[in-house]
Amino acid sequence: MKEYKRIVVKIGTSTVCHKNGAPNLRRIESLCRALADIKNMNIDVVLVTSGAIGVGVNKMQKKERPKSISGRQAAAAIGQCELMSIYDKFFLDYGCLCGQILLTKNITDDIQGKKNVIATFSALLKMHAIPIVNENDSVATEEIVYGDNDTLSAVVAEYVDADLLILLTDTDGLYDSDPTKNPKAKIVRTVKSIDKVKSIASESHSNQGTGGMITKIKAAEIAKEAGIPTIIASGKDPQILYDIIEGKKIGTLFSVN
Ligand code: GLU
Repeated sequence: MKEYKRIVVKIGTSTVCHKNGAPNLRRIESLCRALADIKNMNIDVVLVTSGAIGVGVNKMQKKERPKSISGRQAAAAIGQCELMSIYDKFFLDYGCLCGQILLTKNITDDIQGKKNVIATFSALLKMHAIPIVNENDSVATEEIVYGDNDTLSAVVAEYVDADLLILLTDTDGLYDSDPTKNPKAKIVRTVKSIDKVKSIASESHSNQGTGGMITKIKAAEIAKEAGIPTIIASGKDPQILYDIIEGKKIGTLFSVN
């Protein structure tokens, strides 16, 4: 069994939030408890979390995401604050320090900016804190965004030299065809050649239900180039993280060799 030393866990908006955008407290608490416990096993943890805009829209009592960029930036500013206060509370309950790192692509594209970011991660991990990362949506405009946290989480995994990237999402993994259309669709347990599965993801992406697989596969590709395996698994019950680190066959593994 592989002994992990440092993992990056990414959780998407549909897993962090209820359908109305309000934070799913039961799930976030369960996630924080599992991550704090994993830290107690001497495994460093970095969390990449989405949900700022969704939580902000809900907190502003709006029915839909604002159409304007500045409106979405304001929603993210409000939501990110709320989201961090929830993480901070739950992590403290389980005896864990956490710290927020908000990134945009222009920062990490800059040589000095990238060095600073890596140094911050390293300092936080040295003091046994859990870095909590999101895109800095409240200042992000099209030219400087990663655009999705899957890609961002793979970049973070590379920066912190993680030995596993876990993408928690609203499906059990990658299927060989769209499970919402094909009842015989089977989960792909191990992906050795990412090129071979790209076409499956593009099909499933266009048919709602397994949406977001393309960015996850892209993330797995970035991680693989850095020598880091990726697992895509369901975030419905964050206790699944225990099974993953124990090496059980969960979700879809993108192996590095
Ligand atoms: N950064 C966005 C948010 O926190 C989410 C981006 C994504 O879901 O990939 O709302």
